[in-house]
Amino acid sequence: MAKDIDWANLGFGFSEVNCHVQAVWKDGAWGKLELVEKPYITMHIGASCLHYGQECFEGMKAFRQKDGKVAIFRPEENARRMIRTAIRTVMPPVPEEMFVEAAEMAVRENAEFVPPYGTGGSLYMRPLLIGTGPQIGVAPAKEYTFLMMVMPVGAYYKGGLKPVRAVILDDWDRAAPHGMGDVKVGGNYAASLFAHEKAKREGWPVELYLDAKEHKYIEEFSTSNFLGITKDGVYVTPDSHSVLPSITNMSLRQVAEDLGIKVEVRKIPYEEVRELAEVAALGTAVVITPVWEITRGSEVIKISDPEKVSDTLLKLYHTVQGIQYGEIPDTHGWCHTVEV
Ligand SMILES: *Cc1c(COP(=O)(O)O)cnc(C)c1O
Repeated sequence: MAKDIDWANLGFGFSEVNCHVQAVWKDGAWGKLELVEKPYITMHIGASCLHYGQECFEGMKAFRQKDGKVAIFRPEENARRMIRTAIRTVMPPVPEEMFVEAAEMAVRENAEFVPPYGTGGSLYMRPLLIGTGPQIGVAPAKEYTFLMMVMPVGAYYKGGLKPVRAVILDDWDRAAPHGMGDVKVGGNYAASLFAHEKAKREGWPVELYLDAKEHKYIEEFSTSNFLGITKDGVYVTPDSHSVLPSITNMSLRQVAEDLGIKVEVRKIPYEEVRELAEVAALGTAVVITPVWEITRGSEVIKISDPEKVSDTLLKLYHTVQGIQYGEIPDTHGWCHTVEV
């Protein structure tokens, strides 16, 4: 029950809420969005998501704002990205309006689980699209399930951004040059788990990937985009077909421009990392994770002070969070308010 939650000590993990939203696609059309209380689904043991990885997901957040309203951050962008992923994995796309309606329903029915303003928490929203029809010959399934599950999560940083160390493990790649790196499929996570666990065991919380073809250019971290700030104060982020187009990165690029920071989306050779003033990992869960050191084989590159976050990263972080919590004017219309 929401009233029993200790908001100040909430982590990032699954917890039960009132319900999730679900719809089924069959006979060529999406059925109605429905509320489902139990956090389980029943599916055929031949379901294509189980056998052939026909599945994709999204991640976004709803925030309790300063004036008490509840707003989802840019759900239309997640809807569009899920449409691109669905097309790439030959699943029926969930129309943008239907996706946003599902998000609104999930927030409205679970409004009591949106952490109070000031706790630094949010309602994490996880849309999922899976092939649930049986398919043993390799082909797209004939039935799909779309669902929107939500859970309250706590402030990732309790007391300021905390820089981490990263590692490049050249023995493993995350995504092939013309593979699925640019869409949000679970398979990309399965592909990176082994290296991720190894990195973690050996003391690095995040791994950074180079392009799979040449191992020459920076791509992204296993679950977040790469941001570099040059010594001249330019925001640089890799241009690559196998990087997932992060909505956090997209938003931060706009915020950077608004703040008068120059933005460059271009190839970043590995060697250039030695010259960068700041590096950070970008994604919905944490927004910005500063990276103070990068290790590759015997080379250890110290980027920045492990104890101190630069003013540029702090300004970017506080601006995006300020917009999300309704403390700063939302000049780009990113907050999608839900009547609760
Ligand atoms: C989800 C994801 C991100 C972050 O995207 P956001 O839209 O900012 O949350 C970055 N990289 C990968 C590989 C991802 O799966």
